[in-house]
Amino acid sequence: MNGTTDQPGAGRYAPSPSGDLHIGNLRTAILAWAFARSEAKRFVLRAEDLDRVAEGAQQRQLRDLASIGIDWDPPVLQQSQREDHHRAAVAELTARGLTYECYCTRREVQAEIAAAGGAPHGAPGAYPGTCRDLTEAQRRERRRHRPPAVRLRTDGSPATIRDRVFGNVTALVDDMVLLRNDGRPAYNLAVVLDDAFQGVDQVVRGDDLLTSAPRQSYLARLLDLPPVDYIHVPLVVNDDGRRLAKRDGAVTLEDLYAAGCSLPEVMGWIGRSLGLGDTVRSAAEVLAGIDRVHLTGGPWVFRPPVHSPGSAGATTAR
Ligand code: GLU
Repeated sequence: MNGTTDQPGAGRYAPSPSGDLHIGNLRTAILAWAFARSEAKRFVLRAEDLDRVAEGAQQRQLRDLASIGIDWDPPVLQQSQREDHHRAAVAELTARGLTYECYCTRREVQAEIAAAGGAPHGAPGAYPGTCRDLTEAQRRERRRHRPPAVRLRTDGSPATIRDRVFGNVTALVDDMVLLRNDGRPAYNLAVVLDDAFQGVDQVVRGDDLLTSAPRQSYLARLLDLPPVDYIHVPLVVNDDGRRLAKRDGAVTLEDLYAAGCSLPEVMGWIGRSLGLGDTVRSAAEVLAGIDRVHLTGGPWVFRPPVHSPGSAGATTAR
């Protein structure tokens, strides 16, 4: 498969195999699948395995996606198998004078941002440019202490993307990391290259990545890759308004089954959260109702079912 042709494009779901999918991840996956299929697109999966990989997590993720009725066009892409292509793109940018080495630790970057009175609006964690204009002698010296990361040299201007849920989103494009200092490709680079490789033209994902979208679209343009449509899905939060996590109790399919819930019931909650009323019992019914899906910018508050009578709220099934 290559990303050069294959109209009418593809949607995708790209989980990191760092653990089991929770109900919020499954909801995003169903939406990604339903938006793509409703527009006669291919639907592809990608394991974003450049970072933390939990033993067996990818197999369990695929099992859960299949079991809730999501089908995909093979193969499932392993991001780590594309590292040579990621590095080749960095070499190309370097040849164009668009990269530089950075020797800062994460802590140093944070300290610099704090000293400058915080990150610019719309660009959380934006790199302040510390290593941008070092002399060759300074670089040689710093290299002796720390292997460098490679950053993109931008002109510090903002970029705007259009999102189907959030409208126009503008953020400053900072000198993002392209290669980490362990030599591995950084997420923002890999995601852009791999979406293009898989022919993806529709990106549906959690809205925690909304502020990264302008950088990614800027990078895609720089690499002469086709633009994508963005649909950022508001995250699922717990009762306290915090991002849903394993400690909140029964949040994975396995946990929910163990707590006595059925798949139609789980799909019912997802359907309701999407404004589809009380009748949804399957992913196919979300697909059938996709034109009526109502996503606001607000989060979905999920209250995990209690495990057994008398247990106080969230309990973990394993
Ligand atoms: N791998 C990311 C995650 O699991 C998603 C990245 C993306 O969809 O662009 O949160």
